[in-house]
Amino acid sequence: MVLAKDEEFRSSLLEWSTENLREFPWREPQRSLYEVFVAEFFLTQTPAENVSSVYPTFLEKFPSLEAIQEANKEDLVDVIEPLGFYNMRSEALQSIADENDTLPVTVEGLTELQRVGSYVANATLCFAQDESLPVLDRNVERVYSRVFGDEWPESPQEQLEFAERLVPKDEARTYNLALLDFGASICRPEPPCEECFAAGYCAYGPV
Ligand code: SF4
Repeated sequence: MVLAKDEEFRSSLLEWSTENLREFPWREPQRSLYEVFVAEFFLTQTPAENVSSVYPTFLEKFPSLEAIQEANKEDLVDVIEPLGFYNMRSEALQSIADENDTLPVTVEGLTELQRVGSYVANATLCFAQDESLPVLDRNVERVYSRVFGDEWPESPQEQLEFAERLVPKDEARTYNLALLDFGASICRPEPPCEECFAAGYCAYGPV
């Protein structure tokens, strides 16, 4: 059953996305699974603007898992040091490359990789392959918890199931990009609720 609030939020967000999506190099069309994975792997703990500053150089030096296999840890650290967590990240990427010639193409396979959780797995498969999967980062969790109030569950697994219900099967990529951008740029700690498309039904904003 499609609930009225679900449908209203979904359609309003998609309309908002027509003029408000941010542009980043990993969002360009035809990016490979590997290229999208690299971006999402870095984006888990680093603002997008910072990732943008090293992403082109990283792909130029390490265009594949094979290139990472052949590199030293210092080669990786040289490039990703400005992002922070560079020891953890370079070790994880080397471990992933050592154990895989190509990336898995399922959520189960990706989440078995070192330091890869459901956000990276779902975002990679949604943005690279148009798979209809929920993409939940902290900003998105904040948006959903505000809009749906008490309906938003507490456990991570139930949150994923709740979010999955909202993803439109034929526009999953656009919807998830819009959610990430709406959470990062509008529905922030002090949101402009009076001007928001969800103000009439959001459990947090003015009604
Ligand atoms: S009304 Fe306010 S809290 Fe609700 S989604 Fe919009 S900006 Fe966020």
